[in-house]
Amino acid sequence: MNNKTDRINQWVRPEIRQLSAYHVADPADCIKLDAMENPYGWPEAMLEEWQQLTWSAKLNRYPDPAASSLVQTIRKTFNTPDGMGILLGNGSDEIIQMLMMTVAGKDRTVLAPEPTFVMYDMISRYTGSSFIGVPLKDDFSLDLPAMLAAIDQHQPALVFLAYPNNPTGNLFERSKVEQIIQASPGLIILDEAYAAFASDSFMQDLDQYDNLLVMRTVSKMGLAGLRLGYLVGPTPWIEEINKVRMPYNINVLTQITVDHALRHIDVLTEQTAKLTRQRGLLSSELEALSGITVYPSEANFILFRTEPGQADRIHQALLDKHVLIKNLSPAGGALSDCLRVTVSTAEENRQFIEVLQTCLN
Ligand SMILES: *Cc1c(COP(=O)(O)O)cnc(C)c1O
Repeated sequence: MNNKTDRINQWVRPEIRQLSAYHVADPADCIKLDAMENPYGWPEAMLEEWQQLTWSAKLNRYPDPAASSLVQTIRKTFNTPDGMGILLGNGSDEIIQMLMMTVAGKDRTVLAPEPTFVMYDMISRYTGSSFIGVPLKDDFSLDLPAMLAAIDQHQPALVFLAYPNNPTGNLFERSKVEQIIQASPGLIILDEAYAAFASDSFMQDLDQYDNLLVMRTVSKMGLAGLRLGYLVGPTPWIEEINKVRMPYNINVLTQITVDHALRHIDVLTEQTAKLTRQRGLLSSELEALSGITVYPSEANFILFRTEPGQADRIHQALLDKHVLIKNLSPAGGALSDCLRVTVSTAEENRQFIEVLQTCLN
């Protein structure tokens, strides 16, 4: 071992040394159906207006630290309840980090059902918190007695529920979620990253609880490249979390561009509605294939299970034919033999199904 490795071993915190960096597949020349992106672009007039806005952007100045204009547009567009505070993050990933820095950390616990969004576990580790994953039932619904027992035992500072859940796609039962909110001693975050595709939300329930915050992102509705998430909840909580936010975390171009896009929310809504219709068609086509089990989805992706031991091979065979989806099978446990496909345009969905058919036998 050379000196550099010795020094790294000595100084990098052991919990960071153990991690591997979040892996993102190289799309190369693939049809990209792995990351829940929206495949559609903007109408020309909307693009031209946006270019005008970027020409007058003051790139030499720091951005508005409070992003006031964007926050106002978010309030109007998403009908956030009056009197609630809003905090913006560089993607909701950054919000998860801010939440952990505020209430978690050493000797504190973060809890979520599993399988779920992997960043809850990863960011728990960066911040030195311990993470407790409570297994979902076989159909990926919440195991309420197990959740309540784990909450009672571990007294988590922070509970995350992805609503709908990623990577499973289902929406948990509302009455179970309500009981978990009530039983949680600390903060509980409803992560509504897929709200644009889902039939339910807790946004209008915020005022019924003193420990509930709703987190959303513009990524899955078509603006993944901009990195913007927002957290809504009681102002006293938002004010505390805001203390750990980097002052200029939302850059000038993101502020201008998201504001512009949300002023044309009809365009984005039409796109997400198209994808929601496509999700139904794609699910039925997957269900018609032999050896494939499809899970219900309220998001812009579909989780499906292959026959035992086939997922890695099918994933690679799709890749060889330039179709990139997400292989969840290496995660093991409940996700063994599972693959996840992002819903895209009718054309890309058709190509995916055609190629998949050739890979199944
Ligand atoms: C994609 C995703 C996020 C992250 O969103 P960004 O705003 O792009 O960081 C958060 N939560 C869940 C459940 C997701 O699937």
